[in-house]
Amino acid sequence: LARLRARLVKSNNVFGKSLLALLSRDEIDEDVWEEIEETLLMADLGTDSTMELVDTLRERVTVEGSKDPQRVRAMLHEELVKLIDPEFDRRLTVTADGRPAVVLVVGVNGVGKTTTVGKLARVLVAEDKDVILGAADTFRAAAAEQLTTWGSRVGVPTVSSDVEGADPASVAYDAVDKGTELETDVVLVDTAGRLQNKANLMDELGKVKRVVEKKSEVDEVLLVLDATTGQNGLNQAKVFSEAVNVTGIVLTKLDGTARGGIVVAIQKQLGVPVKLIGLGEGPDDLAPFDTESFVDALLE
Ligand code: GDP
Repeated sequence: LARLRARLVKSNNVFGKSLLALLSRDEIDEDVWEEIEETLLMADLGTDSTMELVDTLRERVTVEGSKDPQRVRAMLHEELVKLIDPEFDRRLTVTADGRPAVVLVVGVNGVGKTTTVGKLARVLVAEDKDVILGAADTFRAAAAEQLTTWGSRVGVPTVSSDVEGADPASVAYDAVDKGTELETDVVLVDTAGRLQNKANLMDELGKVKRVVEKKSEVDEVLLVLDATTGQNGLNQAKVFSEAVNVTGIVLTKLDGTARGGIVVAIQKQLGVPVKLIGLGEGPDDLAPFDTESFVDALLE
């Protein structure tokens, strides 16, 4: 939590700062409500959720008859926690009976897929799990190399193809096959994300999943989204969730944005929880998503 706070603060957390400024006024008046609304919108909370939240807060203030900014801040905290939903099951499925757990990591180029696979491998290794990586992003020339580097950094093997443009599904299959042979606990598969041709990408992802399923069940499909891309990320999420059954979101680059409200919009749209957050480029910059800590950090 301390690290999350530090990161969000370092990232110039406009959301928290301006709310804090608003709520340190003597009294909550009409101008303040408007500014709260604006701040929530700027943080990418989405129009519906913002309206809903502000209406609820106004109603509570009327019922309680208190315009004390500190009280309003506490209410805002409670309502944000409710919106983000503390009931979501955010645990990753990384154990399977008698076979490796299979995790596919999907998302468009540049969002931080490969980095996330590397960081996640590190987390799992720290939990004493045997991990193998699959470099199924066969289109981006440097992707397999980048993943292999992460593999050696973290101390786990990487299955890749020497042939550029090799069939991603077959590399994914080989990784799961190898994981099964080596009796590893988890297979993490990095996939391709060229969005130039949406239909192709989605066909290809569907194929990767189907081919892997010939060998094993798929336990998690993690969609990686870049928190700095706002509405764009939401559109991507929609396209991906139509192609594969996404089981969790990884929201990256939260260290570089004040737009953490996107968590609310994404979860609402997909009905899938944010499970992990990326807070930097280093191997330790991945954290499980925790609603309370996240709201704390937002309102810091
Ligand atoms: P991919 O194309 O989706 O596999 O994306 P990469 O993993 O290659 O990441 C793209 C860039 O984003 C790289 O420069 C990463 O170091 C950077 N990156 C990934 N995750 C994070 C994050 O959580 N925070 C920051 N600041 N940068 C990140």
